[in-house]
Amino acid sequence: MSPEVKPDFLINAEGLRIDGRRPDELRPIEFKVGVLKQADGSAYIKQGKTFIIAAVYGPRELHPRHLTLSDRAYLRVVYRMATFSVPDRKKPAPSRREREISMVIANALKPALFLEDFPKAVVDIFIQVIQADGGTRCAAINAASLALADAGVPMKCLVPAVAVGKADGTLIVDLGDQEDKYGEGDVPMAIMPLTDEITLLQQDGSFTREELLEAMQMGIQACKYIHELQKDALMKAYATKAPSEDDDFDDDMETDLGEAEIIGEED
Ligand code: UDP
Repeated sequence: MSPEVKPDFLINAEGLRIDGRRPDELRPIEFKVGVLKQADGSAYIKQGKTFIIAAVYGPRELHPRHLTLSDRAYLRVVYRMATFSVPDRKKPAPSRREREISMVIANALKPALFLEDFPKAVVDIFIQVIQADGGTRCAAINAASLALADAGVPMKCLVPAVAVGKADGTLIVDLGDQEDKYGEGDVPMAIMPLTDEITLLQQDGSFTREELLEAMQMGIQACKYIHELQKDALMKAYATKAPSEDDDFDDDMETDLGEAEIIGEED
């Protein structure tokens, strides 16, 4: 594969980004809930070319026991990138970055969970990045909160997340890999839409106070949009089909009952 070349600009003369998006436009997002048979809850997210699967187990007994918390469940998050998820093969051993992102994700999700309802237990979240093209920590939070809901872990609300960044002096929402690498900075954030509380706010690069406040406003708007997509994905997984007039359910019932009556009469 030929080495990646730094683009001459990230925002063109028309004000559009290298993939043609407007500054406030998200990449296409697809969620699916309940994708893994063995997990108590699971979900995947495809956000542009970023592809992540999250699996939840628990609440269940915690091993090793010395990690036990007497007043609440321990939320154990393991974020890992597959060796083939990035252009330069990633070493399989857990990196410092993966450990840090695991902690960041746990801290972003904890405020939305009723962990105090399950003292001494553990809720495990395993997150596997299959393909990374920027924004993996936020996409992972989006998928993990859906997997938690799928597992039936009691939650105040889902936790949508997105990064807002700066490229060629323009604030942009939902950075792709090149924007992440060559832009002037990014602000990953996550919110609880129910209360508008921010559960993740990081900053890389330099922003003026005004830029940071505007970036946060853009991020909150984007998170609210992602929240709608998350709810749609849950509805698709759980909504049962309402019987329509075309369904022959009633006719079958009548036939079955009719036969039962005839049998009854013969007896
Ligand atoms: N990345 C990479 N190799 C690595 C780690 C990261 O190529 O070992 C890329 C990947 O595309 C990732 C991006 O760098 O999405 C930005 O990583 P960062 O740590 O900023 O986290 P993210 O933006 O994914 O949350």
